[in-house]
Amino acid sequence: MGAIFVAGHGGLVGSAIVRRLQSAGFGDRLLLRTRAELDLMDATAVRVFFERERPSQVYLAAAKVGGILANDTFPADFIRENLLIETSVIHAAHLAKVDKLLFLGSSCIYPRMAPQPIPESALLTGALEPTNSAYAIAKIAGIELVRAYKKQHGMNAISVMPTNLYGPGDNFDLNSSHVLPALMRKFLEAKEHGLAEVSVWGSGSPRREFLHVDDLAEACVFLMDRYDGGEPINVGVGEDVSIRELAETIARAVGFEGRMVFDATKPDGTPRKLLDVSRLTQLGWRAKIALVDGIAATLEWYRAHR
Ligand code: GDP
Repeated sequence: MGAIFVAGHGGLVGSAIVRRLQSAGFGDRLLLRTRAELDLMDATAVRVFFERERPSQVYLAAAKVGGILANDTFPADFIRENLLIETSVIHAAHLAKVDKLLFLGSSCIYPRMAPQPIPESALLTGALEPTNSAYAIAKIAGIELVRAYKKQHGMNAISVMPTNLYGPGDNFDLNSSHVLPALMRKFLEAKEHGLAEVSVWGSGSPRREFLHVDDLAEACVFLMDRYDGGEPINVGVGEDVSIRELAETIARAVGFEGRMVFDATKPDGTPRKLLDVSRLTQLGWRAKIALVDGIAATLEWYRAHR
């Protein structure tokens, strides 16, 4: 068996896939490159790398990602960088004849007003949420690249759509992070500094589904093995919470006893984003890490690594 290239192994998803492959006994097959060693947006460098290393499997977990404010503020960066990474890596993987490539998308590819829970068939049936449409269109282009290379070149590639993720290695920067790490940091610092209140963006009523990244990594390794379908496949936990409920759960985990203040100057984004995971469940996989347990473990990680 050849090497397994995890593109983006320094990130939240890539690092979890590496841990999962190591614990499954594939550690000696891992092929990893830092951003300094290989710029995934540089198509020539990526092609030369693939020709030299000839990996057999590719997990395409590299992406420019961020929370609602970062997406809304830097849409040009989000669309450009993701398109460049996807086109470089997928084309090079095709030329080097990899056995299989797994592309990671995002649940924001679905229309803002998609039916809930969102089936894979909702893709391209309606208008996108404007706060992250640039990122979403880049990820939709990735799905179409996978379909196109499969159709024209017979490439064995699949697209996996995870819901909102969290876990060790997440980004805790308040301007660019997603909601879960942001609130964890805000509540922790408020408790440590004895503050009476914490600001929660938006109205608190949007609903989101949160998947621990170790669950996602397990699902990815499972799907690399078991799924060859041309259509994307959702990965989620099958239930969601409101942002208010999430904030209360994190406040309890941290031990913050002050007030939450909802900041209406910040966007709510899409009202609800719950994935229909029946396709994945039928294949025999389901998420195992409950939100409270995942939050406790992530808090422990953050305390040790900040
Ligand atoms: P989204 O799922 O793409 O909308 O990404 P986010 O994780 O950034 O935001 C999810 C929801 O949490 C939105 O309704 C945000 O307004 C809300 N939210 C509340 N407080 C925060 C915060 O401190 N940071 C972020 N990023 N979102 C927050």
